[in-house]
Amino acid sequence: MTDPFESTKTFVGRAGKLLKLPLRVLERLEEPERLVTVRFPVRMDDGRECLFRGFRSQHNSARGPYKGGIRFSPAVNESEVKALSSWMTWKCAVADIPFGGGKGGVIVDVKKLSKGELERLSRAYVRAIAPVIGPTKDVPAPDMNTTPEIMDWMADEYSKIVGKKTLATFTGKNIKNGGSQGRTEATGFGGVIILKALARREKLAPGQTSVAAQGLGNVGHYFARFAAEAGFKVVAMSDSRGAIYDKNGLNVSAVLNYKKENGSLKGYPAEEITNEALLALPVDVLVPAAMEDVITEANVSKVKARYIIEMANGPITPEADSALKKKKIFIVPDILANSAGVTGSYFEWYQNMHKERWTKDKVLKKLEQKILIAFAESLRTMTKRKVDLRTAVYINAVQKVAAAIKD
Ligand code: NAD
Repeated sequence: MTDPFESTKTFVGRAGKLLKLPLRVLERLEEPERLVTVRFPVRMDDGRECLFRGFRSQHNSARGPYKGGIRFSPAVNESEVKALSSWMTWKCAVADIPFGGGKGGVIVDVKKLSKGELERLSRAYVRAIAPVIGPTKDVPAPDMNTTPEIMDWMADEYSKIVGKKTLATFTGKNIKNGGSQGRTEATGFGGVIILKALARREKLAPGQTSVAAQGLGNVGHYFARFAAEAGFKVVAMSDSRGAIYDKNGLNVSAVLNYKKENGSLKGYPAEEITNEALLALPVDVLVPAAMEDVITEANVSKVKARYIIEMANGPITPEADSALKKKKIFIVPDILANSAGVTGSYFEWYQNMHKERWTKDKVLKKLEQKILIAFAESLRTMTKRKVDLRTAVYINAVQKVAAAIKD
């Protein structure tokens, strides 16, 4: 797997060079400002006490408090949380929300924990990192294997530590515990706002524009749903077990219902293909919305789409990115395409801070405005500097963060 820290460094370094940033600024942007490593005990159901290791990486706070998810996974490590916290700095800058980048994680296999153990682990991790988080310091959110319920426990634990209800320390909570309307669908919704804007720019009629979406988790599900509602021809969808294809367009709501009832797409009445074959379909728009590193040097020559919207984080390796550029495939990069997720989190934080409760309609309207501004700004830089969109997006983000450092 590509080291995510190295690929982020490649894109940031390229933008820094084009901006002619002084070396001392670039060096500051390379590494997180703080990396906290914690080791904490958790009482297991059988009475034993187990020690767990966790991290919180705080990349850059020049534009505001750190913001970023917490993942629970056996694969969590220092290099990964550092890379992901840096990613969040650029994503927050692209979306123009007043946060810097953070990321945390605990090395744990959640499948081996009972619900009680999971709750005690979540609360113990918060006690361990409590000195470095808070609504104006660092605002964590869910990530891999962490859920709204876990955020509720964490917000409750933090409130107990500081002695007052402090909901704005965590986002991604359940709505009854201070979560925001619209956050669940925000990322997929934002991706489709980009898809619609791209179609307008390229003069593509939605009904004649074929879309293949990989992944049917939170992001893929809502992307496919909103794309179909906007009239796009979604011809392929997939989950980890395989993909389905119909060149005339799938009935997206029927597919989503089938997946809900059966747990997978196996047996759905459409042509069954592999995830690898989905990436090679002759479609207008390819949407990797599952995981990182799916388009690599090994399969990039097979990609036939004209446009790629990166809804997952890091689905294209830097080597594959260069090859796609040569093939003149237009890529909307992850830190722009999926930035509505963190923007939705910012709206939750804002509502908590100001004791407000917005309707879903208001949240989605505000998301649409923000993402359209970010997309337009990125396209302007792309044209002005004669660079690809990914480089343009990084130029804008690095410029904003560098300016805040200078201030
Ligand atoms: P998720 O865990 O809900 O869903 C992941 C999906 O990918 C599932 O449908 C799973 O079946 C599928 N999948 C797993 N392995 C696969 C494989 N080998 N081939 C094809 N599909 C496979 O995750 P999510 O929240 O939907 O996130 C997806 C991606 O988007 C991740 O890269 C994540 O970091 C990124 N992202 C998510 C959000 C968000 O708000 N959820 C925001 C920004 C970025």
